[in-house]
Amino acid sequence: MTEGIAAIAARVTQLQTQFAQLQARPAASASAPDFAATLATEKKRQSATAPAPATTTAPTPSATPAPAPGATAVPPTATGGVTKTREPSKVIGGGSRITPTMQKVIDEIDQKFGKFPVIGAWRADGGMPGSDHPTGKAADFMLNTNGRMPSKEQLQRGWDIANYAKDNAERLGIKYIIFAQHIWNPDRADEGWRLMSDRGSVTANHFDHPHISVKR
Ligand SMILES: [Zn+2]
Repeated sequence: MTEGIAAIAARVTQLQTQFAQLQARPAASASAPDFAATLATEKKRQSATAPAPATTTAPTPSATPAPAPGATAVPPTATGGVTKTREPSKVIGGGSRITPTMQKVIDEIDQKFGKFPVIGAWRADGGMPGSDHPTGKAADFMLNTNGRMPSKEQLQRGWDIANYAKDNAERLGIKYIIFAQHIWNPDRADEGWRLMSDRGSVTANHFDHPHISVKR
């Protein structure tokens, strides 16, 4: 009987082991296809909806252009305290052809009021006798470049620039400022902005750009 009991016990153990193996196998094999199926379904869903999040998330970084790629490359105090936040505007006739005083005005105005479509500094023909452009002591901060009358907002921006230069004339070394057919210079500061004669066009009358001349 003892042998019989031992044999039964052994058989039970054997069956228990088999049962455990069977139990484990179906469990694993049943969940694996399920997992595979779920994964495939998820992948399909992701690829099906992929274009949607791509188009909705793409405008977000471009809509906030504050941390522009070039911004971090520029030293924060490159212009002596003026924190650079973006690329400077394109300057035509800049560099060694303009005076350090003019360069400083351009940098400051550009950082404070830019970005401009273009800033026109030195040019061989200043457009009129006595122009400061051929000597590198003048700059035109273009509000638009289509020759048409600027918008109300652009005109306000132009006045903000002109008045900023006026208010800081001594520090910036300003000789005179022209905007919207008006001129101001330090020697006649008490007269304020003086109306100029009509020169015939939006650009000639300086409606589309504040012109700033410096003394040196
Ligand atoms: Zn000019």
